[in-house]
Amino acid sequence: MLDAPFAKWIDEHQDELIARLKEAVEIPSVSGDASYRPHVVRMGEWLRAELEKLGAEIRSVPLGKQVLDGQELDLPPALVGSLGKDPKKKTVLVYGHYDVQPASLSDGWKHEPFQFTHDKETRRLYGRGSTDDKGPIMGWINAIQAFQETKTEIPVNLRFCFEGMEESGSEGLEELVIKEAKGEFADVDAVCISDNYWLGTTTPCLTYGLRGLSYFSVSISGPAADLHSGVFGNVVHEPMTDLFALFSKLVTPQGKILVPGINEKVAPLTDDERKLYEDIDVTLGDFEQAIGAKVTISEDKAEVLMGRMRYPSLSIHGVEGAFSGQGAKTVIPAAIKGKFSIRLVPDLDPDEVNELVQKYLKAEFAKLGSKNTLKVEMLSGGKPWVASIDHWNFRAAKDAIEKVYGKTPSYTREGGSIPITLTFAEALGKNVMLLPSAYRYFPSNRVGRGDDGAHSTNEKLDLANYIEGTKTLGQYLLNVPAAAASA
Ligand SMILES: [Zn+2]
Repeated sequence: MLDAPFAKWIDEHQDELIARLKEAVEIPSVSGDASYRPHVVRMGEWLRAELEKLGAEIRSVPLGKQVLDGQELDLPPALVGSLGKDPKKKTVLVYGHYDVQPASLSDGWKHEPFQFTHDKETRRLYGRGSTDDKGPIMGWINAIQAFQETKTEIPVNLRFCFEGMEESGSEGLEELVIKEAKGEFADVDAVCISDNYWLGTTTPCLTYGLRGLSYFSVSISGPAADLHSGVFGNVVHEPMTDLFALFSKLVTPQGKILVPGINEKVAPLTDDERKLYEDIDVTLGDFEQAIGAKVTISEDKAEVLMGRMRYPSLSIHGVEGAFSGQGAKTVIPAAIKGKFSIRLVPDLDPDEVNELVQKYLKAEFAKLGSKNTLKVEMLSGGKPWVASIDHWNFRAAKDAIEKVYGKTPSYTREGGSIPITLTFAEALGKNVMLLPSAYRYFPSNRVGRGDDGAHSTNEKLDLANYIEGTKTLGQYLLNVPAAAASA
């Protein structure tokens, strides 16, 4: 139990903190829709004012222009700034994003998504952005205010980086971080990002790794135009048949990647590491519920977690140019483009993976004896990231979670990527930690109707997560000097 004065102040001022989140949620700062751009800008101005009330020095940094929905628009500015410049203190950089995903009542929301709803019976706070990522940003502001109101010295210097384009690819941010690595962020000792989620609903997590991604397209072409199978079946080499033959060589139904050289690069599992996964507070049932069926490759929880977090994976996504309508059309497609991707873990570099894939697919294609033409392209590549959990940054957060929740956090990696994490790690060369302050609000992790935004209805934050999350962020900052001293 945490009885520090700042924590008591947080408990006693819950209504004020809820009102702050309400104001933030009710600015519909949707970054992916041109008509909402003025709201995104207003959200940035509102956030800047909140930070300035705490005495922070904040600059709004223009990030250039973009074309969206056929219009040329100014990108929402990033907010960059500081609170405290004492050379005797450690400096922690805090990142968050003030934009949100689109939302409308017609997607299936119970409440108007941009009207903040406090359900007092269930103690839940509903609204777009309540957890992603306005709740955590308010958590930082609340914690700093609580320190100031209770005359608690903040034992670290803070740097801020808040963007308004995270839900739309963080346009312009990478360049900004690289530039500020020699400017505003030059003294940063560690980075804390609060923009992901606990794995289950009850145990706090600290996240120390993300998988990278290499995305490929495989084009096979032959005939000059689509052909009829009654006329040309068993006469020509068919591109789709070639593609299926190739794709059957990529991965087994048990998830084993068949491209030589990839599995060999993955670090062998140690007993200590396996224990980390066994200790994660999640069950096979949690996965089956999220999947909606009992179709996991393994029934061992640790294996399932490692499949997602520490091993690479290869997924086949689709085929462009294939007949996909109803009925029995007897077309032979003249050209076909298959798509697959590989999720990367250390030490798999996207460029090296590209070379391995190119070499392998060309060799396998040659074995087919087809006269068609093959082209393999890597459409995008992002590196994996993993941080050391032995760093004082993680120890300060672990101790904070233990104090606030009375529980040891689960150490997790994410199966997907949050590219800005790697940018901070590489540009600053410092320890980066993901400190989620709430559990995942999605009813499931399923992707609905081909559109990632559609499934994330009824976004909410449990009041308890908001309040205890605020205390966790505050206590983490208080813990930094001792954790760093014992390094
Ligand atoms: Zn987010």
